[in-house]
Amino acid sequence: METIPHYINGTRVTDAERFGPVFNPATGEQEKQVVLASAARTEEAIAAARAALPAWRATSLAKRTTIFFKVREILNQRKSELAAVLTSEHGKVLSDAEGEIARGLENIDFATGLSHMLKGERSEQVSSGIDVHSVRQPVGVVACITPFNFPAMVPLWMIGSALACGNTVLLKPSEKDPSAAVFIAEAFTEAGLPPGVLNVVQGDKETVDVLLEHPDVKAVSFVGSTPVAQSIYKRAAEHGKRVQALGGAKNHMVVLPDADLDMAADAAVSAAYGSAGERCMAVSVLVAVGNIADDLVKAISTRMADLAIGPGTDPASQMGPLITAEHRDRVASYVAGAEAEGATLVVDGRSQQFDSNGFFIGVSLVDHVKPGMKVYDDEIFGPVLSVVRVDTYSDAVRLVNDNEFGNGTAIFTRDGGAARQFEFDVEAGMVGVNVPIPVPVGTFSFGGWKNSLFGDTHMYGPDSIRFYTRGKVVTTRWPDPSTSVIDLGFPQVD
Ligand code: NAD
Repeated sequence: METIPHYINGTRVTDAERFGPVFNPATGEQEKQVVLASAARTEEAIAAARAALPAWRATSLAKRTTIFFKVREILNQRKSELAAVLTSEHGKVLSDAEGEIARGLENIDFATGLSHMLKGERSEQVSSGIDVHSVRQPVGVVACITPFNFPAMVPLWMIGSALACGNTVLLKPSEKDPSAAVFIAEAFTEAGLPPGVLNVVQGDKETVDVLLEHPDVKAVSFVGSTPVAQSIYKRAAEHGKRVQALGGAKNHMVVLPDADLDMAADAAVSAAYGSAGERCMAVSVLVAVGNIADDLVKAISTRMADLAIGPGTDPASQMGPLITAEHRDRVASYVAGAEAEGATLVVDGRSQQFDSNGFFIGVSLVDHVKPGMKVYDDEIFGPVLSVVRVDTYSDAVRLVNDNEFGNGTAIFTRDGGAARQFEFDVEAGMVGVNVPIPVPVGTFSFGGWKNSLFGDTHMYGPDSIRFYTRGKVVTTRWPDPSTSVIDLGFPQVD
């Protein structure tokens, strides 16, 4: 059986005391195993990153930029190969996997502009003969801990800017789909990144605990579920590290009565069921305002019947399996409980049969959902769309704002004034206007509000430069030029 290694100091390491299973979700078979780092192995990786830091932070911006251009080229050339790796461990369809890589590469594009991003500021003559300038310097060794659902994109969100700023990195990917991280790290090596600058340490909680407490780790970037994000935020901060921890979500799509019905229905289907709903920006609650609800529910359920669910490797599939059997069963339990809670099951995804032992489930649509029902309150992270019916725009905004999460939200309307008001009123970090999944392009930053983000900087884009660097301000005075041994022609006259 293939063993997925660590990648430490430019070398694959397969020697381990502990291993975790890696399944192919489309077959339900364990096809690989991954090494899980002990405390000693994690410390070895931290030491490699620490040792590589002085030379990397001294590497010229020009040389760093060349590496980013090169890695971009390599990953673009090999994107089908990487997409196949993603599909074999995550299950998502190949087109989604390629889309994830393209979105991740936006962060490498951003990193190629690092010499612009790292420019400091300067004020001349703030007082007589005194100038002040600021520089941004790397924080040191950075730990990047990533979730299963975007095994290429989320690591690229973090490592592009972290490395560009002159830090060295320990990437701890999800143990459920760990190969992509090694693939990306090896592409960086091929592009000329020196050994030890980007290390992949495979593992679980035991590994993360070491990263959170080790004095040589100076910053932690985390993306995952809210309970883990919250505990990582607290523990890393307790140990004196700067931390950004992005958590879970429950994204609402508000549809006003004047919306384009077909546009809204198409958007709801792709945003709720794409990637089997395992996206932190997936739409999981449709808020139907006024009299549009019946038509919208009908338009969505009609489209659901045409969704092709199957192995991600089959070009005909539009949706693949879930990540594990346990997760599929958990998703099914929310559908099972919805009716007992008083909701209406319009489409029951559990009834769809699959000719496979893979972790498949059909898509579900639940109507007449209300806050207080588990199907509404919990992050399900699967292909289940809940419909909440409200009377007015104000009711819709109140519902969104009362929710504990504030990752993304969207409004569908033809009314520019209503959309503008929504942008003003709504409490979420990312807002779409007739765009169901408003993931910002790589030149902006990504992040939610409320329980979707712990910390004060968002991820990638301009915020990442602030997070991965420390500011330093230098105040300078030189001896009076009239006393110089070089004839400066002082005092100057015009
Ligand atoms: P998870 O929280 O279970 O795991 C995330 C990472 O933390 C993994 O690397 C895992 O090994 C590690 N981990 C798990 N339990 C831990 C513990 N107790 N202590 C320390 N480390 C631990 O999340 P997941 O299931 O891999 O990913 C899905 C979740 O991620 C969903 O909640 C989703 O909304 C969220 N997510 C959020 C965003 C965002 O941008 N806000 C993006 C992607 C995913």
